[in-house]
Amino acid sequence: MATFDLGIIGGGPAGYTTALYAAKQGKSVILFEKNELGGTCLNRGCIPTKLFLHAAEVYQEIKNSAKIGIYTENTRFDFEKIAEHKDITIQKLRKSLELMMKQAGITIVKSEAKVISDTVIESNKEQYSCEEIVLCTGSYPKEIKGLEFDHKFILNSDDILNLKQLPKSIVIVGSGAIGTEWARILSAFEVEVTLLEIAPQLVPLADWEVSKRIERQFKLSKIKFHTETSIKNIEGNKVTLSNGETLQTDCILVAAGRKCHCEAEGTSAEAIFNNKKLKIIGDAAGEIQLAHYATSQAKELVLNIPYRKDLIPSVIYGTPEIAWVGKTFKSKEEEEGYDKVVFPISALGKAHCDGCIDGFIKIVSKDNKIIGAHIISKEASALIQQIVIAMQNDITVDKLKEVCFAHPTYSEGIFEGIMQL
Ligand SMILES: Cc1cc2nc3c(=O)[nH]c(=O)nc-3n(C[C@H](O)[C@H](O)[C@H](O)COP(=O)(O)OP(=O)(O)OC[C@H]3O[C@@H](n4cnc5c(N)ncnc54)[C@H](O)[C@@H]3O)c2cc1C
Repeated sequence: MATFDLGIIGGGPAGYTTALYAAKQGKSVILFEKNELGGTCLNRGCIPTKLFLHAAEVYQEIKNSAKIGIYTENTRFDFEKIAEHKDITIQKLRKSLELMMKQAGITIVKSEAKVISDTVIESNKEQYSCEEIVLCTGSYPKEIKGLEFDHKFILNSDDILNLKQLPKSIVIVGSGAIGTEWARILSAFEVEVTLLEIAPQLVPLADWEVSKRIERQFKLSKIKFHTETSIKNIEGNKVTLSNGETLQTDCILVAAGRKCHCEAEGTSAEAIFNNKKLKIIGDAAGEIQLAHYATSQAKELVLNIPYRKDLIPSVIYGTPEIAWVGKTFKSKEEEEGYDKVVFPISALGKAHCDGCIDGFIKIVSKDNKIIGAHIISKEASALIQQIVIAMQNDITVDKLKEVCFAHPTYSEGIFEGIMQL
């Protein structure tokens, strides 16, 4: 039986990062992947979605360029070509990941694997002895009762990525990151979008002021939405909502969370075989389902470098980006006793240069320490990282006031906000 120091099941961000760090430490590593290396993130998640989002944003920019004096004629898009570009880019990224793993000396087995004992993995009728085993088996789209995927009319986030033609209309169930990003992509490509959210506010995990602003932005754009609303009935392509409204739609995208893909029952962070605990990390652990959380867990597991679970940034992409970290407030009342600034992006010269003035940088502090930040702005994904670094290193509000921020930038919004605290 082939013997390895470490056996990993799953080749997504959790699995390949664990493998690369362990190999760098001189361990012999074997990784099993039943689909494609790169996991959900590279093949069915973060990257393909952002490729579509980029195309949607370019299309919108070109369409609206006359107001800055750039004229284009007959602006149009070819969705099949956009999808082809997405596939080619993913293939390229997958190849370079494969090469990196090969160069690191990691053995890759491209088939389904299962744990036989605390030290044995079986795949393709072969057994492999592994001193340690880590499960990185990820997650898959969750079904809702009555909205079971038929992959034609009722779609999940995998199905929508494989569309070669756009629908004319769509109902999206769930306004988390996936639902909101797809609402933005499809609406930019002139699909009639109706977004349904069961919670009282859109993007329910976000700060209350962020949700309110997103609702305002959606009202100004063509994205229709209903909060506290679900689908009550479907007859053909006629959908009846729980608020009594009916509408016709070409398809439904269910974006209502993901289930972990774990060998072990339940969602605990450890599976037990023969009384030995096997580590489960990434989406499979059923905690925070984000690629950068998965890689932080891998870093801690292999290199013993800790991360702060309370300081994992969240980002929703699109125009404008939405990002937050730290404490999230559900209402104005909850903010009592804290210091807060909401700095408008429209006060920044750079935002006017870019034509992206709708948004804000909200920073909440207590006793000179930042306890949360909520940003709607172009580049919010990069801006939030500045706050994460400050929070994780206990850099006080007063200390941040001493920092010089370049001009003209969106970062100046952080500085101007901090100066008001
Ligand atoms: C549409 C969409 C957009 C997203 N956008 C973002 C984003 O912008 N930012 C972000 O941080 N996160 C995003 N995510 C979430 C992100 O993709 C996941 O958090 C991340 O992929 C988790 O990594 P993982 O390694 O734990 O699991 P996965 O990436 O799911 O990888 C698990 C791998 O294990 C394999 N596997 C499972 N069982 C077995 C078995 N028995 N044998 C062999 N192989 C097996 C699977 O085939 C899979 O390749 C998005 C997700 C989706 C669906």
